[in-house]
Amino acid sequence: MDLQFSSDDLAFQDEVRSFLKENLPASVLDRSDRGLHPLKDDIVAWQKTLHKKGWIAPNWPVKHGGTGWSLTQKYIYNREYFLTGAPQTIAFGLNMVGPVIYTFGTQKQKDKYLTDILQSNVWWCQGYSEPGAGSDLASLRTRAVRDGDDYVVNGQKIWTSWAQYADMMFCLVRTDPDVKQQEGISFLLIDMTSPGIEVRPIIGLDGEHSLNEVFFDDVRVPAENLIGEENKGWTYAKFLLGNERNTIARVSRSQYQLKRLKEVARAERRGAGHLIEDTDFRRRIARIETDLMALEAMELRYLSQDIAGKKLMAEPSVLKIRGAEIAQAIKTLTVEALGPYGMVYESEDQLTMRNDGPLGPEYAHGAMADHLYQRAATIYGGTNEIQRNIIAKLILR
Ligand SMILES: Cc1cc2nc3c(=O)[nH]c(=O)nc-3n(C[C@H](O)[C@H](O)[C@H](O)COP(=O)(O)OP(=O)(O)OC[C@H]3O[C@@H](n4cnc5c(N)ncnc54)[C@H](O)[C@@H]3O)c2cc1C
Repeated sequence: MDLQFSSDDLAFQDEVRSFLKENLPASVLDRSDRGLHPLKDDIVAWQKTLHKKGWIAPNWPVKHGGTGWSLTQKYIYNREYFLTGAPQTIAFGLNMVGPVIYTFGTQKQKDKYLTDILQSNVWWCQGYSEPGAGSDLASLRTRAVRDGDDYVVNGQKIWTSWAQYADMMFCLVRTDPDVKQQEGISFLLIDMTSPGIEVRPIIGLDGEHSLNEVFFDDVRVPAENLIGEENKGWTYAKFLLGNERNTIARVSRSQYQLKRLKEVARAERRGAGHLIEDTDFRRRIARIETDLMALEAMELRYLSQDIAGKKLMAEPSVLKIRGAEIAQAIKTLTVEALGPYGMVYESEDQLTMRNDGPLGPEYAHGAMADHLYQRAATIYGGTNEIQRNIIAKLILR
């Protein structure tokens, strides 16, 4: 594989670095650095800055507002972005439903939704999972029945991230219960202000409200909000899930977090010295760092194959499993490095009730919340067990 960047690539890398250094707001970086969820207004403002620069949607085709970057440039951009500590942009509009709309939507849908997604004017949420339909998504039961120019939707979604902020949901619904499961599903765009929708919070392990249940009680959705053909929703749903390849391994995010872990270990006192001098602790950091280097080499190998036009099959699953496990290991070790203050867990709500700031050293705040939220990394986007099933089917047969 060719690991050399051209002089143009290196110039591009410098441009990305300088832009991020000059434009990423300190408050946005601070929350991202601690692993805390971004505040809605902050992330929207940051995404608008990226849009103004023309960099909000690297993966979109140029004619719909993409950058036209090569695979190498996209790799460099993502790498620099996360090495700076910048937060992941909200994926639901930009990486998920946007590509579905420009690939399968009508001209009217493209005109109505794409610009607002690029400009972060509309917040989208993902209505896939239901109680009893997560890994086995095709067994979903939320029903949509055609009635004149509308569909009438009844049922329930669960684990809907950020539904409390959402203006729109892209939703999988069952339109034909009498055929093979995958063949009776449709993909609807639902206005979250429609009468009959109720959003109920689920408070996560991290004490924060990012998850929700969403209930539909005779919700009328205009039939023009159907994507593509009725009962072909499974095709669009799978297309959407296959779009996250670029950042799936989280290598640069983990490199940033590993660098922060070493800083904590340098600052934390143990006995007469510092934690970073402890042989056992150094060995544990080295083990994670070695795993991360191996993951990076694997990611580059796949990138090189992608550039050469080889169709990637099970590779994204391999990257997702290792990437999530390594990210979790870094956070677990960070919490350990912080000693007693690593165990302190204060939610945002608890903090707003006090006026003396978080307990412990300034850099400890957020570590436990992030450690707990990281448990989800091996669940969302397809659990590690499901990824292993995919690998078994595609590679080990
Ligand atoms: C933080 C977070 C955010 C999320 N955000 C969203 C969102 O915005 N929108 C949305 O639609 N969903 C969202 N999800 C839901 C997520 O997609 C599901 O949790 C995931 O698909 C797993 O489904 P489940 O929770 O029903 O678990 P289940 O599918 O019930 O799995 C339970 C356990 O059984 C294992 N298992 C299941 N089937 C198999 C099998 N065939 N072989 C081996 N093991 C198996 C699983 O690996 C898991 O360990 C989110 C989840 C989390 C944790």
